Amino acid sequence: MDVSNLRTMKVRCCVVGGGPAGMMLGYLLGRAGVDVVVLEKHADFFRDFRGDTVHPSTLQVMDELGLIDGFLKLPHQELQKMDGIFGGVSVRVADLSRLKVKHNFIAFMPQWDFLNFLREAGKRFASLKVMMSAEATDLIRRGDTIAGVRAMTPDGPIEIEADLTVACDGRHSTVRERAGLEVEEIGAPMDVLWFRAGRRPNETENVFARVDPGKMMVTFDRGDYWQCAYVIAKGQYEAVKARGLPALLDDVVRMAPVLKSGIAEVKSWDDVKLLTVAINRLPRWTRPGLLCIGDAAHAMSPVGGVGVNLAVQDAVATANLLAAKLAKGCPSEEELDAVRKRREFPVRLTQRVQVIAQNNIITMALKGGNQPLTVPLPLRLVTAIPWLQGLTARFIGLGARPEHVHSPTIAPSTAR
Ligand SMILES: Cc1cc2nc3c(=O)[nH]c(=O)nc-3n(C[C@H](O)[C@H](O)[C@H](O)COP(=O)(O)OP(=O)(O)OC[C@H]3O[C@@H](n4cnc5c(N)ncnc54)[C@H](O)[C@@H]3O)c2cc1C
Repeated sequence: MDVSNLRTMKVRCCVVGGGPAGMMLGYLLGRAGVDVVVLEKHADFFRDFRGDTVHPSTLQVMDELGLIDGFLKLPHQELQKMDGIFGGVSVRVADLSRLKVKHNFIAFMPQWDFLNFLREAGKRFASLKVMMSAEATDLIRRGDTIAGVRAMTPDGPIEIEADLTVACDGRHSTVRERAGLEVEEIGAPMDVLWFRAGRRPNETENVFARVDPGKMMVTFDRGDYWQCAYVIAKGQYEAVKARGLPALLDDVVRMAPVLKSGIAEVKSWDDVKLLTVAINRLPRWTRPGLLCIGDAAHAMSPVGGVGVNLAVQDAVATANLLAAKLAKGCPSEEELDAVRKRREFPVRLTQRVQVIAQNNIITMALKGGNQPLTVPLPLRLVTAIPWLQGLTARFIGLGARPEHVHSPTIAPSTAR
């Protein structure tokens, strides 16, 4: 590396990655007066679709932070009843209106709006700095301890010394790879194709999931477009591509006739994004001076659309457990590991349920064949018993062990 223009910086905490986990953690640490920098490798948050669901647990956190009124003024759609069609039969997967919480709906909002909102709200904390176009490339080590990161910025390389580094850099985390943390792969039988179809004002439908023999897809009404997720068997992307785009789009419209006019907006394979579904987790989330959270610690299946919310919950738990300690210096590795101890149960339980859903519903649906599909017993029970729709809503909307904000907040005089 050319070090002639190497810059250095020293902070208490360096958060790598400005996704939901990193931006929420940055906000909470800034709010607690901890000297923190968030590094985001992209120049802005306007990237590919990455999950637009803000669940009741995150809405609750925004409420506890006093941010909810401004947040809900941003354009969004609200969903309470999660209905599907399984082999031609209507099913209800969950009813969030049964949740006894203040915000009992899923807010659909582009993830960039959510992240921009947090960034703007965090500007009043003098101790929080967000560096865009700053990509962490390596770790600084002092003996066994991680002592910060090396990053590349448009102005050249920078070394950021930090008492604590938090990897929030997602499921392909550079930081955890450089730290040599082992990843336990759990696997998933499917991949997902994401695309948008245009939506006319008169095109409405409450159904969000559709399952036919050999096919499965999800559609979300996003105001002027439909966000669509078409599930394919793992590794079948090239085979689907070989059949041609018109064949895929015909299947899509057959399953979801409401997309008939808007599907014309999918013009080429460039409009279709492949999500390689992964479920994994780290047995160890820490090294001395380092903690991994969010997707960097556990990639989730898209089942239930809970990845964003688990990432936010991890950030809240991290700030609750570590913000006060960080005011004095770097927590010990044992203190850092308290985050894993707190969050591992919800992560494992959620992944377990996702695997059960994948093995019993998705694998069966993708098998195809000419046999008509029968609605699996758990789905039949949930559809028939409204109380169970509250239980599934609790799992999807709040998750296990929802976190509440307990981290300290600084006196207004220290805020900008
Ligand atoms: C196509 C798709 C659809 C999804 N749909 C849903 C959904 O509907 N609902 C849901 O809840 N979840 C969904 N997810 C999952 C969800 O996006 C993740 O679980 C969630 O964003 C995890 O948050 P995170 O902050 O841990 O990581 P990420 O959101 O992955 O954020 C990581 C951030 O780190 C940055 N970064 C990476 N490397 C570096 C580096 N070296 N230096 C600096 N910055 C770096 C990245 O640019 C990114 O901004 C979807 C994911 C994908 C890919």
